[in-house]
Amino acid sequence: MGPIAISALLVIAGAFFLWTIRTRFGLLFVLKSENRFDQVGRRVGALLEFGLGQRRMIDDPLPGLMHIFIFLAFMVVALRTVTMFGLGFSKAFHFPLLGPGEALFGPYYLARDIVAVLALVGCAYFVFNRLVLKPDRVTRSWEAYFILGMIAGLMVTDLTFEATELILASPARSPALLDPWRPAASAVASLLTTMGLSAATLGALGLFCYWAHVTQIVVFGNFLPYGKHFHIITGLPNVYFKRLTPSGQLRKLDLEAEDFGVAKATDLSWKQLFDTYSCTECGRCETNCPTYVTGKPLTHKELNQTIKHHLLDLTPSLLQLAGAKDNRAKLIDGLPHLVKNNEHDGAIAEDTIWACTTCGWCETACPVLIENVPRIIDMRRYAVMAESAFPPEAARVFKGMETHGNPWGLDGTTRADWAAGLNVPLASAGEDYDYLFWVGCAGSFDDRQKKVSRALVQIFRTAGLKFAILGAEETCTGDPARRLGNEYLYQTLAQANVETLNKYAGAAAPRKRRVIAQCPHCFNTLKNEYPQLGGHFELVHHTQLLAELLHDAKITPKLSVEEQVTYHDSCYLGRHNGVFEAPREALAKIPKLKLLEMPRNRKEGFCCGAGGGRMWLEERIGQRVNQNRVNEAAATGAKIVATACPFCTTMIRDGVNETGRSEALAVFDVAELVARSLEKPA
Ligand code: SF4
Ligand code: SF4
Repeated sequence: MGPIAISALLVIAGAFFLWTIRTRFGLLFVLKSENRFDQVGRRVGALLEFGLGQRRMIDDPLPGLMHIFIFLAFMVVALRTVTMFGLGFSKAFHFPLLGPGEALFGPYYLARDIVAVLALVGCAYFVFNRLVLKPDRVTRSWEAYFILGMIAGLMVTDLTFEATELILASPARSPALLDPWRPAASAVASLLTTMGLSAATLGALGLFCYWAHVTQIVVFGNFLPYGKHFHIITGLPNVYFKRLTPSGQLRKLDLEAEDFGVAKATDLSWKQLFDTYSCTECGRCETNCPTYVTGKPLTHKELNQTIKHHLLDLTPSLLQLAGAKDNRAKLIDGLPHLVKNNEHDGAIAEDTIWACTTCGWCETACPVLIENVPRIIDMRRYAVMAESAFPPEAARVFKGMETHGNPWGLDGTTRADWAAGLNVPLASAGEDYDYLFWVGCAGSFDDRQKKVSRALVQIFRTAGLKFAILGAEETCTGDPARRLGNEYLYQTLAQANVETLNKYAGAAAPRKRRVIAQCPHCFNTLKNEYPQLGGHFELVHHTQLLAELLHDAKITPKLSVEEQVTYHDSCYLGRHNGVFEAPREALAKIPKLKLLEMPRNRKEGFCCGAGGGRMWLEERIGQRVNQNRVNEAAATGAKIVATACPFCTTMIRDGVNETGRSEALAVFDVAELVARSLEKPA
């Protein structure tokens, strides 16, 4: 085919590719380091499951399947493509065992033909999807058509080249030469023979297809780093370098080292930039994102693009940092901020970072496992701790937590007043107990949630559990402060709680005790975040405990609750901690209760709008998230929305009132419904 020409093509294309990649990857080395090279076994497992196994793609079955077709084609056809380049140097080039007549020749080319045809089906589907179906999540761009055309072109030129070779190798030049191991190439050969082309024309066609194929490959490869299809190169490594800590755990800031989060590009880690390179712009992150769905200025997809372009625009300045020593601080000083506010310009609007409820949908949906919540919180952290730039409502919350240990700023010494008359023992009283009931701020101070606390006490008593509470020794876990960016306040509160909990239920207790949390936010923080401060506790959410007690017949619901009920998944219980079934199992045990599912349930559950500290902030832009959810709940025909989180209860109840459904729809915690079905203890 011309060794000189193919060598020239490879050298020019390779040089251009290396030049592009050098800048793209060079940026990674000037950003903050982060160890994503540990736990190789788990990483390989993730690569097999989410990368090669494409597990998340089938969550949206049809496009997912079509993407898998194309992905498979890339995997299988890669060998063939290298072979094509090799043929440029020698007509006899082939990989071991893949030469004509060798052991794997037939099976490989059969696989190649099948995946090439499937890839063509996939390309046709995606063009149809963009032109006709036009799903909301898909970004309209010429790039997608260009790449789809390229992929289809690669398949067609490969099969046609092969078809001309098949015909020319056959003395009869008839369809009888069809090779059963190469059905697609043979079908193309049949088509060509019916056209009666001369040997010279077939030779020219084959040559054209050959050069079209190898040229497309080098153009394709060089184009990738410039657009969203960079994910073809970075997607699998991004999956390999995934976060291995729980999604509900935020990075602990080293405040003594003056780590106050993310202000500028240089505060991002290499992985955070790599994430943006890997975004496929598929928009899966948007479908159940409460901010996107209700019209707020934040989507995971767009934030990736914004951050990526911000850094790429700064490439010359950032690359200067690589060799800088003495003037490094000055160079960083000259960089623009990421977030725009009253004090300075920036690429990201302030409303964007405050819109997120940290519900975790986007991360659950993302096929290449891009991490969104940590970087948003890191930007909030800098805004709060370094610039005091946060929504005014947050100031009251911080103050309340600082001075009284609860976001309402109510007198902390009255924390156990909800239990008046119930004779609930305090852990400090010295009696033995098996369970430490972590009541939480809402369960202690919010009048509606106090009823849930009391219902739980009724259930614990019926089950004969030995339990105790901390009373005034308990203070806010710090979750709202942490997710609103006030890491300093979080660490102060959390440290105090870790000491207390260690004394009663952890390392310093006479024996380990299970800690019952009625709030999923407390549950998540105690379980996933306190280990960063030396607190290791055995957590159980109250709905998990209820499911256990019901399963073990420690409590037996006898009284009917003849209602249609829909269960609203809490993000911090469900998506972040995988507790989807326990609340449903508990509800299912209640006589005559009929459970109806909302369309967005379990992993796809739709946030109530309260997470990420948004419970305490005004919602000024777009539709209210809670109203969106209540509309969905009402559409099931249910008369009760069951919840498992105090924040959800508040938001859903507000949504019910705001949408004028207070007569039609009631809101109860799962515990209240279970308690209703129990005969009262003597
Ligand atoms: S962030 Fe993930 S889910 Fe969202 S568009 Fe990018 S690749 Fe798709
Ligand atoms: S965490 Fe939830 S609210 Fe925040 S961007 Fe992702 S899906 Fe949207």
